[in-house]
Amino acid sequence: MTTSKPIAPLDAVIVGAGFAGLYMLHRLRQQGFSARILEAGSGAGGTWFWNRYPGARCDIESMEYSYKFSAALAQEWDWSERYATQPELMRYLNHVIARFNLGEHMVYDTRVASAHFDETTGLWALTSTAGDTTIARHCIMATGCLSAANMPEFPGRESYTGATYHTGKWPHEGVDFTGKTVAIIGTGSSSVQSIPFIAQEAKHLYVLQRTASYSVPAHNTPLDAAMRDATKTNYDALRARGLAQPLAFDIHLNDKAASELTPEQIQAEMDRRWALGGLPIYGAFADLLTNAQTNQLAAEYVRGKIRTVVKDAAVAELLAPKGMLGCKRICVDTGYYETFNRENVTLIDVSQQGIEEITPTGLRAAGQTLTVDAIIYATGFDAMTGSLERIDIRGRGGKTLKEKWSAGPITYLGLMSAGFPNFFTISGPGSPSVLTNMVMSIEQHVDFIAECLAHLRAQDLQHIEPQPGAEQTWVGHVDAVASATLLYSCNSWYLGANVPGKPRVFMPYIGFPAYADQCREVVAQGYAGFHLSAA
Ligand code: FAD
Ligand code: NAP
Repeated sequence: MTTSKPIAPLDAVIVGAGFAGLYMLHRLRQQGFSARILEAGSGAGGTWFWNRYPGARCDIESMEYSYKFSAALAQEWDWSERYATQPELMRYLNHVIARFNLGEHMVYDTRVASAHFDETTGLWALTSTAGDTTIARHCIMATGCLSAANMPEFPGRESYTGATYHTGKWPHEGVDFTGKTVAIIGTGSSSVQSIPFIAQEAKHLYVLQRTASYSVPAHNTPLDAAMRDATKTNYDALRARGLAQPLAFDIHLNDKAASELTPEQIQAEMDRRWALGGLPIYGAFADLLTNAQTNQLAAEYVRGKIRTVVKDAAVAELLAPKGMLGCKRICVDTGYYETFNRENVTLIDVSQQGIEEITPTGLRAAGQTLTVDAIIYATGFDAMTGSLERIDIRGRGGKTLKEKWSAGPITYLGLMSAGFPNFFTISGPGSPSVLTNMVMSIEQHVDFIAECLAHLRAQDLQHIEPQPGAEQTWVGHVDAVASATLLYSCNSWYLGANVPGKPRVFMPYIGFPAYADQCREVVAQGYAGFHLSAA
C-alpha cells in the first residue's frame, strides 16, 4: 500500500500576474518563502496582457512607469518611446519574468473562483473555476484595480448579431476594421487612445459619448540613447522627485496657487504644460484640485484648445467637458480631437437619453438608429473592488468580503480588512493606487507585505489582521482627505459611479507621500492598528 505525502501549504498564494503579482512573487522568493501565482489569463502582464486595443500605451512616461526595485534592470532595459506601447510593455514584463526566474512559480489559465479562510488550520484555500485547490498561509490579491470589465446591461445587448468587443478584453490576433461601420461606446482613456486608430481603418465610426473627457496631448516621441542615458545617469534623482509628489511621478508640481499668479503667469504656466504634454497638467497650480475657481481656469484653457482644433463648432462644444478638470482621470492622447474633423467620424451625444437599445443590427441612441458591423464597449471597469468581489472571499465565520463591503470597501491602509487574517490586497481600496504612477504604489505595497511576512516569521507569529477600530478610523480618514478636494464633484469610477448600484464612496487615498509615511510609522510602531498572533 502506498501512502501519498500530504502537500505542504505554500507560504503565500498570489492571485494575478500583472506588475503587482510579478514583483510580489520575486520578493517572496528572494526571502525564501514558497509562493505561487495563479493567473486567469493564458499569459502574464495583467493590464497589458488584456488591453490590446489599437493605440494602447501608458500615460506615464515609460522611464517612470517601470520597476525601480532593481537598479540593474532599470539600467539594462531600453525604452524605445516616451510612452511605451502595449507590446513593448509586454516585452518588458516577460523580460522581468525571465530575468528573475519567476516562470516556474506561475500557473496560467486558472481563474480563482473562491478563497476561504479555515479557522481550524489558519490557512487559506483557493479554488479555481476548474475545481483545483491551492492551500497557503497567506493570500495576496494582485487582481488589479482595472481588470474587471464593465459591460453595461443595455436592453437587447445579447440580441446583437455583429461583432462585439470590450477594450479590456481585446482579441490577441487584433481586429481589422477596414471597410466596417463601427460604434464605440464611451469616451474615457481607452476610447481616447483607440479612436484615432480605428477611425483610420473603419468606413465609418460612431462615437457614443455620455460624458466628455479632458484630454491632453501626449507629444509622444522616440527615445534615443542620449535621452535614455540622461535619465539613467540620474535615475535615482528622478525616482526620488516622483516619490515626493502626490501622484508618485514627476508632475513638476507648481507650489503656487493660481491666486498667487498674474493672468499672464497663469497663461504661461498652462502654455508650458500643454507644450510638455501629458499628466503633468495636474501639477499646474498647487490648488488645482482643491479650488473650483483655479480648476475652471485650467479647464477653460483645455476647452479653448478643443475649440481651436475641432472645426465644427457644435461638435467642439459637445467634446468640451463641463465638469472639473481632473475629477475624472485626465486622458492623454495622440490626435484624439483632430479625429473628429474626419468625415467618417460622427459624435453622438447620449448624455440625455442614454443608449436606448441594442438591436440585432446595431443600436438605438439619441433618437437615431445605427446599423453597424461592430460595437466596441470602451465602457471601463468595475474599478478597485470589482476583481475582488467577483471572487467568493470568506474570512472568519464564513463572512464574505462582498457582504462586509456592501456599503463600500472597508480596509486598513488599503492593505487588509478585519475578519480576513493574512489576506492582503495590493493597491486595494483605501490606498493611493489608481491616483498614482501605479508601478510605484505597487512596489510600496509589495515591500510592505514582504517585510510584514518576514517580521511574522522572525517573531514566530502566524497571523496578522487589522483591528476593527483602526480600519474604521482609516476609512474615515480616506473620506475626509477626499472631501477636502474637488474629486467628489463628478460621477467618476473613483466613486464607483460608472457601475449602477455601486455605493458612492471615494475609494483611492489621495496623496502618495503622506500615505507612504503613515505606512512607515505603522511599522515603526510595531504594526500599530494590526493584531499579530501566534495561534
Ligand atoms: P493588473 O495588471 O490588472 O493584473 C491583475 C491580474 O489579475 C490580471 O492579469 C487578471 O487576469 C488577474 N486576475 C484577476 N482576477 C483573477 C482571478 N479571480 N483569478 C485569477 N487571476 C485573476 N497605470 C499607470 O500608472 N500608468 C499608466 O499609464 C496606466 N495605463 C493603463 C492603461 C490601461 C488600458 C489600463 C486598463 C490601466 C492602466 N493603468 C495605468 C493602471 C494599470 O492597471 C496599472 O498600472 C498596473 O498595470 C496594474 O497592475 P496589477 O498587477 O495591480 O493589476
Ligand atoms: P472609463 O474611463 O471608465 O471610461 C468609460 C467610458 O464609458 C466613459 O466615457 C463612460 O461614460 C462610458 N460609459 C460607461 N457606461 C456607460 C453607459 N452605460 N452608457 C454610456 N456610456 C457609458 O474607462 P477606460 O477608458 O477603460 O479607462 C479606465 C481607466 O484605465 C482610466 O481612467 C485610466 O486610469 C486607465 N487607462 C489608462 C490609459 C492610458 O492612457 N494609459 C488607457 C486606458 C485606460 P461616463 O464618463 O459618463 O461614465
